[in-house]
Amino acid sequence: MKITGIKAWQVDLPLKEGRYTWSSGHFVEIFDSTVVAVETDAGITGYAECCPLGSAYLPAFAAGVRAGLAELAPQLLGLDPTDLDVVNAHMDRVLSGHPYIKAPLDIACWDILGKAAGLPVWKLLGGKAQERVALYRAISQRGSAEMAANIEGYRAEGYRKFQLKVGGDADADIARIRATRSVLQDGEVLVADANTGWTRAEAARVVLAVRDLDVVIEQPCPTYDECLSVRRRTPLPFVLDEVIDCVATLQRALADDAMDIVNLKISKVGGLTKARLMRDLCVASGTPMTIEDTWGGDIVTATIAHLAQSTPAEFTFSATDFNSYGTVSIAEGAPVRENGTMGASDQPGLGVAPRWEALGEPCLDVDR
Ligand code: MG
Repeated sequence: MKITGIKAWQVDLPLKEGRYTWSSGHFVEIFDSTVVAVETDAGITGYAECCPLGSAYLPAFAAGVRAGLAELAPQLLGLDPTDLDVVNAHMDRVLSGHPYIKAPLDIACWDILGKAAGLPVWKLLGGKAQERVALYRAISQRGSAEMAANIEGYRAEGYRKFQLKVGGDADADIARIRATRSVLQDGEVLVADANTGWTRAEAARVVLAVRDLDVVIEQPCPTYDECLSVRRRTPLPFVLDEVIDCVATLQRALADDAMDIVNLKISKVGGLTKARLMRDLCVASGTPMTIEDTWGGDIVTATIAHLAQSTPAEFTFSATDFNSYGTVSIAEGAPVRENGTMGASDQPGLGVAPRWEALGEPCLDVDR
């Protein structure tokens, strides 16, 4: 089988809540996502999606996905998309870095491999390790009372795990954590994700002020070393996210006992091939994961579901159903949340079919 063409579409994903706000005043109102199709001489087409969280979250931005695809796509024509490691090695050889640009190309090749084999991607990733995947709901940064009220609203939709967006003023963040913890019920999970927004001094104040609470602290500071410093000051469970961006950073963090949980975002690490390797390293080292991506719609959510479904439940701290945050559906067959959980399709590949009326005309069309 050979890759004969690659197309991409730009799609706007507005939010039901209107605005998503996280640390340091960052916010997004309409997510800018890119859908990718990889076409083959076998008549099989693979689909994928990549959606950065704005331009300030990681070294990634929405227009960069499309600029990178224009650069990289012509160099994949003629390769066998079912040779996933060969395709990944080629992408790394011809374009240094930029894992988020490579991610949708890699994921579309997984979709092709599944369709060619007649198997769902969760089967190719190791098999159905759990029936339903427990989801968390991100609670956009607002005042403490409003965030507590939003938790109660999302509980009514079935969520039992909540990730607070903190990383603002330390005193306001302490109030946010206390106010939201006070409305939680037995068995519910609270994560305070600072998204790199605190200095070490601010993080030290927050973790000391909330040390009596059942709360998980996520990515307090920008750098690995700052996070490690905070980690060593607090007995609270600790997640690393932004700084765990490849196998090497994961290996170092495991060796340093730098976290209890890893937030594994598929596009952050370059696609499913690399995310699978990191997932397997986490499982082998006894480290649970939040399995998700930076953002996205139906196709990103489906991709998350396949990776999470093939991960043992005890190592799946949580996952994300981004397709229920937005107002636009871009594909059929995507996971549908039920009681705060989701499951991946049993159809071959990712099991999703683009809704062409939502995508419009392609912005990139490369063929031989
Ligand atoms: Mg995070």
